Amino acid sequence: MSADTEIYAIRYGRSSRKRSESFIGGDPHDGPMAMAYYVWLIRRGEEAIVVDTGFDRDVATQRNREFLICPGEALAKLGVAADKVETVILTHLHYDHAGNHHLFPNARFHVQAAEMAYSTGPWMTHKHLRAGYGADDVKVMIDRLFADRLVFHEGRSEVVPGVEVIHMGGHCAGLQAVIVATARGPIVLASDSAVFYEGMENGRAFPAAFHVGDELKGYRTLLKLAGGADRVIPGHDVRVMARYPEVVEGIAWRVDGRPREDEIDGPPREDEGAN
Ligand SMILES: [Zn+2]
Repeated sequence: MSADTEIYAIRYGRSSRKRSESFIGGDPHDGPMAMAYYVWLIRRGEEAIVVDTGFDRDVATQRNREFLICPGEALAKLGVAADKVETVILTHLHYDHAGNHHLFPNARFHVQAAEMAYSTGPWMTHKHLRAGYGADDVKVMIDRLFADRLVFHEGRSEVVPGVEVIHMGGHCAGLQAVIVATARGPIVLASDSAVFYEGMENGRAFPAAFHVGDELKGYRTLLKLAGGADRVIPGHDVRVMARYPEVVEGIAWRVDGRPREDEIDGPPREDEGAN
């Protein structure tokens, strides 16, 4: 994948928390911090790779999140039939990234070996670390494993030409980011290795962290891999929707172009129109 590769952020849910709950150490400006829940689509011609599978309506209710659209329905709006997708990358197995098990019956699921070990081993005896996981999301991975539908990655490796995954750690033990070769150079889908732009830009950790040091180190790795913050797509930041062109109203944004600066960073510069 490269010159004709398109990447979309698909927002399927949302919630709000306080800024003080969004960064370790709290925040002096304690206003609300909106969170968007995304899955991502990488497309080149007929080839479609889905990154993460989101949660469903029931899980949204249990966890007090707002459910906007089934990720499968959102993909259909972009012309992708979920049951035809052959490659799904799971950045990690948290409930908001690894649900909707019914959606991709013909896909193989790419995951870090470390994430399977983490989510099925002794760390899960700690309630704090277990809280982000749904047992069903972990169990279905075992079923997929025995059905030959899991592909394990360790460290950095290729999924298809032009799409690589890389182990990031920090947020959980086996998180992976996705590096996509595009006409603009590498775009990095950080998922929760950078929950918000702000954390990455200011070196602040998100409270749901397995290893704070690895999370902070990971921000630097992301910036190095992408060659700059304008080629990193964070996991839950609502600013993604302000910075990139909307292609399906309220649902999908195309994120492989150059981002425009949003109001937080001042007015757009002349050379930074969205493409
Ligand atoms: Zn998440």
